[in-house]
Amino acid sequence: MTFTLKTGSFEGMRSLNQSSVLNLIRLREPISRAEIAKITKLTRPTVGDIVSNLVEQNLVIEKESNSSKQGGRRPIMLSINYKARYIIGVYAAAEIIRVSLTTMDGHIVYNLSKELETLPSKEDFITLIKESIYSVLENSKADKSLIIGIGFAMHGLVNPDKGLAIFSPHLHLENMPIKEILEQEFHLPVTLENDVRALAMAESWFGQGKGVSDFICISVGRGIGSGIVMNSEIYKSSFHTAGEIGHTVLDVNGPMCECGNNGCLEAYASEAAILKKVHKGLDSAEDSILKEWVKADRSNLSIELIFKAAEKGDPLASLIVEQSAKSLGLATANLINILKPSKIILEGRIFEQGDLVISCVKEMAGKYTIRSLEEEVDIVCSALGKKGMILGAVSVVVKKMFEAGGLNT
Ligand SMILES: [Zn+2]
Repeated sequence: MTFTLKTGSFEGMRSLNQSSVLNLIRLREPISRAEIAKITKLTRPTVGDIVSNLVEQNLVIEKESNSSKQGGRRPIMLSINYKARYIIGVYAAAEIIRVSLTTMDGHIVYNLSKELETLPSKEDFITLIKESIYSVLENSKADKSLIIGIGFAMHGLVNPDKGLAIFSPHLHLENMPIKEILEQEFHLPVTLENDVRALAMAESWFGQGKGVSDFICISVGRGIGSGIVMNSEIYKSSFHTAGEIGHTVLDVNGPMCECGNNGCLEAYASEAAILKKVHKGLDSAEDSILKEWVKADRSNLSIELIFKAAEKGDPLASLIVEQSAKSLGLATANLINILKPSKIILEGRIFEQGDLVISCVKEMAGKYTIRSLEEEVDIVCSALGKKGMILGAVSVVVKKMFEAGGLNT
């Protein structure tokens, strides 16, 4: 991992210097003051002042090194104290709301989930979010003065600069100024981000994207989205809506998508699409084991059951899983051809049911990308599991904290 040198020498750059030192400690811990001065090219007294300030704030901890150079004094090594501050992460999905209190390294201290049984109105949604945050604050018994902010991962179209949830297709809600509402209520800084872009940030801080400067995270759930990381930053475009891989069109004569177009990837490979196709297929499939498993109640049909049947070689389940995986592989290959990331991270339940989907995606990506011999795109599954989106909400706040000006000192 290389350390990008971003330092300044005048008073106005103090915050930038502090952020550089803090990030260097994060990336190279345990590290001594002398090493920091050498790498950042800041003077020893400047490094000394910055470190003293960080130690005073309890953000950096000192520990005597086990080794010493030629019998001299053992250097004092510095590490980040990830437990010094808390973050509240909120994830609003189509059917569930999760709120967690975590430490700066993403360790979940307290967690709360609420199922959305009916479509909430805008007011009901906001009330539910506020109540959930209050409940986490109360039950976790965390010292509020140590909470650095609220991170909010919201599905659908989001403008992070304005803190506005523009459109959430699954909840049918529009134009919610989430940042403004929650900042007024809780007097904490709020950072809003699209859920899949936040997930990509979680991969960058806590997951498979750690230390990788360019990667794409593809998330498959009820819908399909992607988070593009370039030069270690999330790519949003000036419209804040980049990454809509789910609505790339594979066939204009294909099935209808929730967005109103035909033949989008989402209409082929999302969980909703897979369930819909199996439901339809079951009417005419005489030999499917799924008929036996779900009995008369088709609501028993689940992604897990479909993949279990496919693993057993059930013709209907195998065919639909294969078709969906191929669509996903094709869209992934297109994305690789355009952006050439060094890594693709796949997230979602369909990747956790054995190797069927990931091996097909790898095969299709290998077949349909144009590349030189040195180019190898690593395709892996996310290891963050169910916590991914919440950690995404948390990571957008952590990232800000480590940026220049993030500590307000
Ligand atoms: Zn679509």
